[in-house]
Amino acid sequence: MATKILILAEHSSGALKDISFELLGEAHRASADAHVVALLLGNGVSELAAELAKKGASEVIVVESPALENYSSDAYRHEILAAIASEDPDAVLIGNTPNGWDVAPLVAAGLMVPLASGCARIAIADGSAKCARKAFNGKFVHHVEIVDQRPIMATMDKGAAAPFDGETDGSVRTLEPTLDPGKLKSRFVETKKSESGGLDLSQASVIVSGGRGVGAPEKLDVIRELADALGGQLGASRAVTDAGWLPHEHQIGSSGVTVSPKLYVACGISGAIQHVVGMKSSGYIVAINKDPDAPIFGIADVGVVGDLFEIVPALTKQAKEAKG
Ligand SMILES: Cc1cc2nc3c(=O)[nH]c(=O)nc-3n(C[C@H](O)[C@H](O)[C@H](O)COP(=O)(O)OP(=O)(O)OC[C@H]3O[C@@H](n4cnc5c(N)ncnc54)[C@H](O)[C@@H]3O)c2cc1C
Repeated sequence: MATKILILAEHSSGALKDISFELLGEAHRASADAHVVALLLGNGVSELAAELAKKGASEVIVVESPALENYSSDAYRHEILAAIASEDPDAVLIGNTPNGWDVAPLVAAGLMVPLASGCARIAIADGSAKCARKAFNGKFVHHVEIVDQRPIMATMDKGAAAPFDGETDGSVRTLEPTLDPGKLKSRFVETKKSESGGLDLSQASVIVSGGRGVGAPEKLDVIRELADALGGQLGASRAVTDAGWLPHEHQIGSSGVTVSPKLYVACGISGAIQHVVGMKSSGYIVAINKDPDAPIFGIADVGVVGDLFEIVPALTKQAKEAKG
């Protein structure tokens, strides 16, 4: 009998999020005989269901209600538990995303099953699962085994799994919502845009980052100009965000965002492990630092020992000329 794997699709502003396709991809890899069911919660989301059915889901289950228009932990928990009760999947995969961090433990607690959180890989066979998750800033891989549970529950790290890249001809069906909006204990109020206007460095292909070596917030313009000239985004070390020079969304590292752009330029950043763990998988790393012993040079493809206020403007000039 096939292994039925239910994934929770995520969407916002009328589009499916990348994590949905990553979960579909991982579900297909998790078991040789996977039957992948995507659960889509929302309101007016039928077009998204058709996309999931083409891009990895054998079946899409749609639950629509005005109470599901925006994410709410209570409404999502209720409908995910209802879908699990009616579909009886072998495994449930949810993104290790802000919504997933919130709802997955609630669902696991509701079912009284363990939850393997933040996994990079999962293999499912005979009612058990082997999960691999990064530990200690990615220095170790932590193997977790879930034995003899139904359903197996795991959250998968964003960007860890390759998205499904084939084509499917899945079916779409609707389940009636079972929630009573009047009984929900939490409800959506409003979405507020962050100061940096929804910056998502994890998707950037070029990042130019500034560290404490920049010296003052107004001097960050030097870094910003190079980022603009290269068509990239502005990143930062924690020293910069802690000092309030830039909002937290710009912070790269273990307590910030993990990035893997094609090009990463580190300016005035020493290369502490907590920073490096968030950017070491970048395609090409250029480091500019006046200290020849700075640890950042240990992972750089090109290291420039010098004053960033001489080097960075020169690079910006070159980039602008090359573009022109
Ligand atoms: C639990 C925990 C979580 C953390 N999470 C993160 C995280 O997510 N991200 C993160 O970045 N850090 C994080 N940190 C902090 C981290 O340990 C470092 O303190 C921080 O990364 C240092 O930032 P920096 O490299 O900008 O500053 P510094 O270490 O002070 O380095 C500044 C560098 O600039 C160079 N410099 C100075 N002037 C110039 C100049 N004119 N031209 C060229 N180079 C110059 C100096 O030689 C030096 O190497 C965390 C720490 C802890 C304990």
